[in-house]
Amino acid sequence: MIIGSHVSFGSEQLLGSVKEAICYGATTFMFYTGAPQNTMRKKILEEYTLEADKLMQENHIEKKNVICHAPYIINLANKKDPEKWQFSIHFLKEELSRCDELGISYLVLHPGSAVGLTKEEALNNIVDALNEVLNANYHCEILLETMAGKGTECGRNLEEISYLVHHTNKSVGVCLDTCHLNDAGYNMNFFDEFLEEFCKYLDLSKIKCIHINDSKNPLGSHKDRHANIGYGTIGFESLLKICTHEKLKDVPKILETPYVGKTFEDKEKIYPPYKFEIQMIKEGKFNSNLLDFIVSYYNK
Ligand code: FE
Ligand code: FE
Ligand code: ZN
Repeated sequence: MIIGSHVSFGSEQLLGSVKEAICYGATTFMFYTGAPQNTMRKKILEEYTLEADKLMQENHIEKKNVICHAPYIINLANKKDPEKWQFSIHFLKEELSRCDELGISYLVLHPGSAVGLTKEEALNNIVDALNEVLNANYHCEILLETMAGKGTECGRNLEEISYLVHHTNKSVGVCLDTCHLNDAGYNMNFFDEFLEEFCKYLDLSKIKCIHINDSKNPLGSHKDRHANIGYGTIGFESLLKICTHEKLKDVPKILETPYVGKTFEDKEKIYPPYKFEIQMIKEGKFNSNLLDFIVSYYNK
């Protein structure tokens, strides 16, 4: 099973990400090249990348399965402020060249938010921006993420995602997010039916990454709040079925579940759940005490 979580990029860059992924017993990982909320980025240092490659080889992590995620503030959908729109395009190009420098094959991108524009205008702006970006011929491929439909988010259903994929001049892929799909109204408890639906719009081979998250909210709520595996409205069995699905066995699965924790002496302490969630998925059996166990593990 190709499974991992999002990890930090930190001071040792890709090397730091690999080390964190290994701690979690992961076979892949996803990282941001800097803080997801801003566009401050440091120069990529080759020595860290080379060391990271070596460490990946030693630990059976295939680099082709490693995913980068673009920052949220890139918004290709809104051209109302042309300067902002151009900045998003420019930043996305830089992000793709950073991925090329790092040797990363896939960059996950949120399509964007319409804010004040019609859905058609917004979608066409995204297509224009993607075409401009893709003209530069990067090795790294963009994966459009399926969104929950919070606010004016584009990519909230398969119609919109496939519109974007079909209208760009060069190949872009898709990243499914189980929490987002649930919140968008696609029932993950009937995943085979969802895949059937997907095939009406796009070939299954377009799916290059899956974000495995449970959801804090009911089907169709358009909220986008991730829950720990088995602790949300989708449930463990359905998420396990997706992780072990024969048709998607070569697709990297990435956990973006929340850190867990409690308040101790007025201080909130939170811990990454990934090592334990990955283990639970590999074992195929739900542990209803997992979150308490994680807190006590890190407080030992
Ligand atoms: Fe995302
Ligand atoms: Fe996601
Ligand atoms: Zn999300």
